[in-house]
Amino acid sequence: MSVRLARTIAEVRALVADARERGASVGLVPTMGALHAGHGALIRLAREETAFVVATIFVNPIQFDRAEDFDRYPRTLETDVEFCHRLGVDAVFAPDAAEMYPDKLLTSVDVAEISSRMEGEFRPGHFRGVATVVAKLFHIVQADRAYFGEKDAQQLAVIQKMVADLNIPVTIVPVATVREADGLAISSRNQRLSPEERRVAPALYQALCAAEALIRGGCRDVGPVKQAALAALARTPEIRVEYVEVADAETMHPVERISGAVRIAAAIWLGKTRLIDNVLSTP
Ligand code: AMP
Repeated sequence: MSVRLARTIAEVRALVADARERGASVGLVPTMGALHAGHGALIRLAREETAFVVATIFVNPIQFDRAEDFDRYPRTLETDVEFCHRLGVDAVFAPDAAEMYPDKLLTSVDVAEISSRMEGEFRPGHFRGVATVVAKLFHIVQADRAYFGEKDAQQLAVIQKMVADLNIPVTIVPVATVREADGLAISSRNQRLSPEERRVAPALYQALCAAEALIRGGCRDVGPVKQAALAALARTPEIRVEYVEVADAETMHPVERISGAVRIAAAIWLGKTRLIDNVLSTP
């Protein structure tokens, strides 16, 4: 069967209703398109675990804190649909902004605390935009399971808390970060790196690994752990650091002492491109 492309909410709902009638379980993979191997991992797991897979492609305007980032975001619907087809996706839901936001939006979802630091601090309003659009997608598709990458660990924590707090009947499935051979986390934004920026970009993951090695070696104090990451990043002069944090893996609250699982997370700029990454550390 070839993939079905739905451009409206009514169309995707009809496709899902049809699948439901046949007794199929439904998996949802929300994306902003420019699909790559990271998205592929989410789709493959959804394909294994559910009978009817819906991938959504929507560059959500309300989650961008910088207009330039929204304008420059790659839009490659045709090749994305082909990508989905090859991976056995059943339906692609690719609405335009008028379909998702026909009227002025007066309702939004705010997940407090988890949203306040790191990405939330440097991208004001970002998680409100994410939580709101994901809540809408959950209500539109009504999937049994929805797949999110650990690459965006804070986003994953925000979505998990939203689903728990609002009793949304969907199981959130985390998927491990897919990396290039040199360690760089795969991201649509990597396309914007110049060849020289791309060459030095793996320094981000290497810095996080250096910090993680310190925790594995027994360090429980966050100061030296952050310092190890910052020192590693400082060796690449092209990199401008926005933050390095060590956060509780569940609440995503920065911690001072390490007593349980933490995520070491960072955001950096390479020229005009902002990159984020994180690693899990379970002492
Ligand atoms: P995006 O299209 O960037 O909004 O990402 C859509 C989904 O794919 C999110 O759940 C991301 O966390 C996930 N994702 C993006 N890049 C990767 C990656 N390299 N590995 C695993 N998941 C990823």
